[in-house]
Amino acid sequence: MTDTLTNLPGRKPFFEELCRRLNARTQRDGLLALLVVDVGPLREINTQIGYHAGDLILAGVADRIRAFLRETDVLARIADTEFGLILSSLVSSGQAELAATRVVSVCMQPFHVLGHQVKVRVKVGIALHPNHATAPERLLCRADIALCQARSTEDAYAFYSDCSSRDLPSVVVIEGELEQAIANSDLEVYFQPKIALKNRMVTGVEALTRWTSQKFGPVRPDVFIGVAERTGLILPLTVFVLNTALRQCQELTRDPGFSVAVNLSAVILGNPEVFELVTQATNIWGFEPAQLTLEVTESALMADPETSLDLLKRLAEYGINVSIDDFGTGYSSLVYLNKLPVSELKVDKSFVMSMLDQERDARIVQAVIDLAHTFELAVVAEGVDRPATVEAVAAMGCDYAQGAHIGWPMPIDLLMDWLVRSPWARESTMRAASGS
Ligand code: C2E
Ligand code: CA
Ligand code: CA
Repeated sequence: MTDTLTNLPGRKPFFEELCRRLNARTQRDGLLALLVVDVGPLREINTQIGYHAGDLILAGVADRIRAFLRETDVLARIADTEFGLILSSLVSSGQAELAATRVVSVCMQPFHVLGHQVKVRVKVGIALHPNHATAPERLLCRADIALCQARSTEDAYAFYSDCSSRDLPSVVVIEGELEQAIANSDLEVYFQPKIALKNRMVTGVEALTRWTSQKFGPVRPDVFIGVAERTGLILPLTVFVLNTALRQCQELTRDPGFSVAVNLSAVILGNPEVFELVTQATNIWGFEPAQLTLEVTESALMADPETSLDLLKRLAEYGINVSIDDFGTGYSSLVYLNKLPVSELKVDKSFVMSMLDQERDARIVQAVIDLAHTFELAVVAEGVDRPATVEAVAAMGCDYAQGAHIGWPMPIDLLMDWLVRSPWARESTMRAASGS
C-alpha cells in the first residue's frame, strides 16, 4: 500500500482517501483540488544514468513537494512517474494554482544524483470539486485530462476547464461512448502473431483491442484503455476481450502448441472477481489453461506487487501463464521477480525497435534476456520490425519474437489467412486454421 521508494501511499489508498473526503464534504467546506503531477523524462534518466538515479529523483521530488504541504494535504505516488495531491478547504481556485506553481518551482531546481546534475520537467493537471466533477473517479479522470492538456502545451500546468473549451473533445466524452461500445460489443479484437526463434514458426498470438467510435473514428488503445482503467469500464472490457479472443481462437488452439495472450490491466488485479471471470472463460470455450497467457505490465505490477500476488498465484496454480509486459520501463525489484509466479518477460518494444541503432538499447535487450534466463523465464522481444532484428534477438538467445516484421495485429479472418500463407506458418496450425 505504501510506496517504499518515496514512503508515500500508493494509488489505492489515495483513491480511498479521495472518496472519504468527498463523502464527508458539506457545502461550507469550500473547494477541493485534485492535482496530478507528472515527472519527466524518467525513461531517459533511467537509461542514460541508471535506474537508481531515476529512483533518487522520484524520492527527491516527493521530499520537495512534501516540504511545503499543509497537514491536511494528501500526497501519494499514483503511478510510475505520477504523484497525486489532494488540497481541501480552498477558498478559491487561485490557491490550487498557487500550489501547482510551487510544485513546478521546487522541482525546477536541479537534482544532484550520482555525480550528475539533472533537470526534470514536471507537468500538472488540476481538477476542482465540485466545479469539474463530483464523483471521485470522474475527478481523477478530469485531472488526468488536464494533465494531457498541459503536456501538449508549453504551460507547466492546466485546469480541467481550460482544456474542455479547447480541442480535446474526444477524451472528455470518450467515457460515455466507450461504455456504450462495450455494452453493444462494438469493440473488436485483433491478433498479433508471435514466433518461436528456435524454429522461426508461429506459436501463438496476442489479443489487442480495437475501437472505432461512431463519433470519433478510431481511438488509440492506450487512450481508451486508460479511460477504461480510470472509470471502472476495464472489467467489462476485459471480460469482452477475453471471451472474444478465446472464442475466435477455438479452432487454432486445437493445435496444443498454439497459445493466446490477453492483456490484463493491473488495476483489476486486486478484484476478487477476476479469477472467476478468467476461469469461467476458459471453461466456456473449452480452453486449456496452459494455452492462455495473461500479460500484466511491469510498471503497474511493481506499483503494488503484494495485491497482485494472490491473484497471480491462483491463476498460475490453475495452469494459466503470466507474463510481465513492457519489461525494462518500470522499477522491478529482483525480490519480486523471484516471488511472482510468472513464466515470461516481454522486453519493451522501445528498446527492441532502436537496438540496431543504439548500442545502449541493445545492451538493455541483452540484459533483460539474461535476467529472464537467470530466473528460468521465457523471453519475448516485441517491436521486432526489421529482418535484422529477428537475427539480432535470436543471436542474443531470445526465445520468441513479435512485431511488425512478423505481422501487425489483424482481425481473425486475416489471421487465418496469414497462418496459411506466411513464411512463419507451421503445419499443425495450418491444419487447425483450415479446419482439417
Ligand atoms: P502492448 O500490450 O505492449 O501491445 C503491443 C503494442 O505494440 C500494440 O499496440 C502493437 O500494435 C504494437 N506493436 C507491436 N509490434 C510493433 C512494431 O513492430 N512496431 C510498432 N510501432 N508497434 C508495434 P496497440 O495495439 O496500439 O496497443 C497499445 C497498448 O494498449 C498495449 O500495449 C496494451 O498495453 C494496451 N491494450 C491493448 N489492448 C488491450 C486490452 O485488451 N486490455 C488491456 N488491459 N490493454 C490493452
Ligand atoms: Ca501486451
Ligand atoms: Ca508491451
